[in-house]
Amino acid sequence: MKVNHHYFEIQDSYLFATVGKKTAEYKKAHPDKDVIRLSIGDVTRPLAPAVIEAMHRAVDDMSRKETFHGYGPDQTCYGYGALIESIKGSYAKKGVFLETEEVFISDGAKSDLGNILELFAEDTVALIPDPVYPAYVDANVMSGRKVIYQDANEGNGFLPMPDESVHADLIYLCSPNNPTGAAYSKEQLKAWVEYAKRHDAVILYDAAYEYFIRDESLARSIYQVEGAKECAVEICSYSKTAGFTGVRCGYTIVPQALVRDGHSLNKMWARRQSTKFNGVSYITQMGAAVVFSEEGEKQIGENLNYYRNNAKIIADCMDRLGIWYTGGKHSPYIWFKCPGGMDSWTFFDLLLENANVVGTPGSGFGKNGEGYFRLTAFGTEENTREACRRLEAFLSSMK
Ligand code: PLP
Repeated sequence: MKVNHHYFEIQDSYLFATVGKKTAEYKKAHPDKDVIRLSIGDVTRPLAPAVIEAMHRAVDDMSRKETFHGYGPDQTCYGYGALIESIKGSYAKKGVFLETEEVFISDGAKSDLGNILELFAEDTVALIPDPVYPAYVDANVMSGRKVIYQDANEGNGFLPMPDESVHADLIYLCSPNNPTGAAYSKEQLKAWVEYAKRHDAVILYDAAYEYFIRDESLARSIYQVEGAKECAVEICSYSKTAGFTGVRCGYTIVPQALVRDGHSLNKMWARRQSTKFNGVSYITQMGAAVVFSEEGEKQIGENLNYYRNNAKIIADCMDRLGIWYTGGKHSPYIWFKCPGGMDSWTFFDLLLENANVVGTPGSGFGKNGEGYFRLTAFGTEENTREACRRLEAFLSSMK
């Protein structure tokens, strides 16, 4: 019996394990030091009160014979009408109109970013940006697919644009981006949509951070670009939008207009989901269904503003220090160039020892991340301010 040997082609991810190990070692050696972690990619603010109330109501529903819910509705791959309608409503506010059958409820973005690959032949080629959220690469390698990379760097503002001389079948785009925080404009995405159509390719658009965007010229959905429904799947999540990292809920849009090789990808995905997925819990879906209500949006907006304010504190610090960076404005991530041409891990060690601040070395996200560093806005305001004060004092002393 043979196992899937592609699993042995995946590179071991030492990034967060090494960050954790080095931080723990430092704390052990210096128990009196107050170490601040701005490396976390997880949210820290609690769920919005409207979500909690809706989930409580859903729990009560489950306690009564008349309102009990078992498996979700078959016709919509187990997504409840209230949730699907609220997602359609949220898209409509962005000028994007969806059919009920195009919205698939998921347990978060990560599963579908990998699972969607099942719809495509194994010899399709995936184009992935470097640096990148590591799950895209690993899911493709596990499935035996060839991966080619598109360079994101200072020259293109970490927003790579299509190269006509390169052919790809699947194109991963993430905007606002993790780890770089850079966000594509609608104009830039138009070029990607045109490229995808010319190459008969499909864009897998990860919009997990779209709720951080506040500038009209930036895309909150790839479907804000004309013709995108014919070439893109959009994968979204309540994780960063509404603090659902521990609750687990997201949604994937597979348009009916998306046809490849003569087949509807929407029908194929519906078939895949009804075979291999049994839906997200009723309680979770009812909580998610109020996120885009007037009250819900107001409340999640308060949490988002809290993180945005932290991001601004870090971005302002970079501005004062004259350090080149992306992100921080439409994203909870700030991606900056290590001072003095230092490599990412050298800077990590120096920052930990001299400022007692932990961030994430950019080299862990791909070769183009070498020499860069990621800080996140998911900490407390107090810690963020203090970390920036220390960072500034440390870097000023180096000048
Ligand atoms: N996509 C990106 C770019 C992410 O950064 C993350 C999580 O950090 C995910 C997807 C996964 O999100 P979810 O919690 O919805 O699985």
